[in-house]
Amino acid sequence: MLNDTVLTLLKKEISENEYQKYIKQLNFDEKASNSDNIVFTTPNQIIANWINRKYKEKIENIYEEQIGKKPNIIIKVKTKKNKTIHIKNYQNSEQQTNNITSTILNPTYTFENFIVGNSNQLAYTIAKSVAQKPSEIYNPVFIYGSSGLGKTHLINAIGNYAIKNNKTVIYTTSEQFLNDYTYHARNQTMDKFRNKYRKCDFLLIDDVQFFSRKEQTQEEFFHTFNELYTNKKQIILTSDKPPKKIAGLEERLQSRFEWGVMADIQPPELETKIEIIKNKCKLDGIDLDIDIINYIASNMGDNIREIESAIITLNAHSNLLNQKITLDFAKDIIKEQIKIKKETITIEDILKTISKELNVKPSDIKSKKRNKSIVEARRICIYLARTLTQNSMPTLANYFDMKDHSAVSHTMRKITQMIEENEDFKIKVNELKNKIVRN
Ligand code: ADP
Ligand code: MG
Repeated sequence: MLNDTVLTLLKKEISENEYQKYIKQLNFDEKASNSDNIVFTTPNQIIANWINRKYKEKIENIYEEQIGKKPNIIIKVKTKKNKTIHIKNYQNSEQQTNNITSTILNPTYTFENFIVGNSNQLAYTIAKSVAQKPSEIYNPVFIYGSSGLGKTHLINAIGNYAIKNNKTVIYTTSEQFLNDYTYHARNQTMDKFRNKYRKCDFLLIDDVQFFSRKEQTQEEFFHTFNELYTNKKQIILTSDKPPKKIAGLEERLQSRFEWGVMADIQPPELETKIEIIKNKCKLDGIDLDIDIINYIASNMGDNIREIESAIITLNAHSNLLNQKITLDFAKDIIKEQIKIKKETITIEDILKTISKELNVKPSDIKSKKRNKSIVEARRICIYLARTLTQNSMPTLANYFDMKDHSAVSHTMRKITQMIEENEDFKIKVNELKNKIVRN
């Protein structure tokens, strides 16, 4: 049958694990389907949303290839009474109404799929214990660390665990909280907003650093926080930096964020990275030799998101070219990825951003002036130019009007030492780096 053919074709495009986990749960609903609308049912909303997001377009395209026209694929949830309810397309409904409710939890971000090492042990242990025993020991929980180290994964794992135990969970980012707030304030439906955020067992807010300087949202969140806290509901927050370092965060919120327990996630040590890669390969059905895994772990940075994306690219290339993934093949692809990333950033970009952020003129940064603030801006520029671009030391010496490459190398040593010794400085450099990379 056509539908079976389509799903079999889809199977070739995705991993066995994905197929077994999601696509196998789809049932063709013959009665509800017609030539324009193909309807499938799934056992629950999480799977329906996930399929809408990740596979709907693929399924539509395969139908198009098979029958020459693109039908609407509708994924419905099969209810217990054997009735179906319509789940709106996740992204469309968000855009159309702008009535952003909570983001759906990612079902693959579980505790079981989270690899624990020294770098994330504390955050993992705390996350697991609040998922199991909410608001008994730690409230609120504040998890922080750089981008790509697993904060969103852990907070989702708490949510998924809680949902399994029939708790009401609201998972959202601070930006969505803000949008939701603005929407309800404008439509004078604040009672709905409050009902939603204040009547849950778990409130999970990802990336609270974006509350920075949003006074009205902070005010609203302050009251939400107090209400939940008083009612002994569990609050979990993540951020890329500790509360004290979030500029423009009201003091009363900062102090509340610090009331419970704070846990940071550090960059993963080599063994943890290796384990994470192995686990990722297993989940996605990708076969990599151990020397390739070691190569990726030792040569890529600490951002796990980037590592995962490299593995996916590698696998896609290998499928496309019908070529086995050898170490040389992996080296080529990864080198290319690192190169592409570096080529998109120039010394000028770095100079411009640092000049703006630190309020020092570009011409001063490039001069020989010795004021403290100018020297610091210059050092940071050189350090970031060396780590984020492919420019050689002599090129940088020339650009920054320094004697020769040894002056650049001296600056690199100096700044690396400052980063190691001074936590505040490390955070500052990291923030500047993020600004440049995101630009
Ligand atoms: P953050 O929110 O801190 O920026 P994410 O939670 O989005 O980072 O993590 C980025 C990716 O890396 C995700 O796909 C996540 O599953 C994966 N990841 C991060 N840490 C781990 C870990 N310890 N074990 C398994 N996967 C991880
Ligand atoms: Mg995140």
